[in-house]
Amino acid sequence: MSIEARIESRKSLKELSTFGIGGEARYFISIDSIPDMQALRLFLNREKLPYWVVGKGSNSLFDDRGFEGMVILNKIPFIEFDVGALHVGAGYSFSLLGVQMARKNWGGLEFASGIPGSVGGAIYMNAGANGQETCDTLKSVGVIDVSGAFVERSDLQFSYRTSPFQKNEDIIVSGRFQLKKVESAREDQLKIIGYRKETQPYGEKSAGCMFRNPEDISAGALIEQCGLKGKRIGGAEVSSLHANFIVNRGGATAQEVMELVHFVKETVRKKAGKDLELEVRPIPYQLGGK
Ligand SMILES: Cc1cc2nc3c(=O)[nH]c(=O)nc-3n(C[C@H](O)[C@H](O)[C@H](O)COP(=O)(O)OP(=O)(O)OC[C@H]3O[C@@H](n4cnc5c(N)ncnc54)[C@H](O)[C@@H]3O)c2cc1C
Repeated sequence: MSIEARIESRKSLKELSTFGIGGEARYFISIDSIPDMQALRLFLNREKLPYWVVGKGSNSLFDDRGFEGMVILNKIPFIEFDVGALHVGAGYSFSLLGVQMARKNWGGLEFASGIPGSVGGAIYMNAGANGQETCDTLKSVGVIDVSGAFVERSDLQFSYRTSPFQKNEDIIVSGRFQLKKVESAREDQLKIIGYRKETQPYGEKSAGCMFRNPEDISAGALIEQCGLKGKRIGGAEVSSLHANFIVNRGGATAQEVMELVHFVKETVRKKAGKDLELEVRPIPYQLGGK
């Protein structure tokens, strides 16, 4: 079926985000191969349609009005593995990848276990935990660039929760990782998932940590010290389990989440003298580019 024939309209964005928040996308398409992503990019260029790429929507806060453009669900699923050399589609589950690799005692992605994102989203966010980051084992990234060409990018500069893709218009379609044999990988991964379940509101609707950690202290500790656990605005609540999570307790709107974000930031600034920066990405209703 042609790209045009597969485009849907008025897709609920609630279903595409782990927060369960958002209006409708004007247009929507699900893509599961690199050639189709390339064809889509050429189509978008021709039509001059604004778009937004989403993986598992686990770090995204959609607007209550939705998105006035095309939301692209990246589901490119392939996986190839040969003696530590891993080549994986951007739509592959990052958590599953972490578990599968650790089960074979390949180390480097143990921390991915329990991060409910896609490989593309993890590369874009440089996701990390437990002293490991996505960029540690990442060798190159396959993208569809702004002209619609497939390009394999290496020699990329990453830092804490930051990747070069946050500043360009590449669509990530694949990643190559190099893993090492680590005899304790499975054991370490099981500890990581166990700890997550104990310390994070795992089954609740959220987008993970709302704020980036300042250099010398965790954002969660700061928010907790300011007495904000359980603070609620409408359906949005600062988790009582982990203060850096805002959870949707039912029917929360993006506006309520952002009001709570503002309240937390102001309180922490006044009481602790620290400026918190958002880690979760609010997605505007309208935009010019990505
Ligand atoms: C319970 C829970 C626990 C979490 N724990 C952690 C943790 O320990 N560490 C951590 O770092 N994060 C954590 N997160 C946050 C989140 O899971 C990660 O940031 C994850 O990597 C996001 O992936 P995603 O596919 O869901 O991204 P999305 O939310 O779909 O997208 C995030 C951003 O990436 C862009 N993007 C996504 N895919 C592509 C692509 N293919 N090409 C170009 N741009 C793209 C989107 O446009 C958006 O700007 C947690 C979230 C939850 C809900």
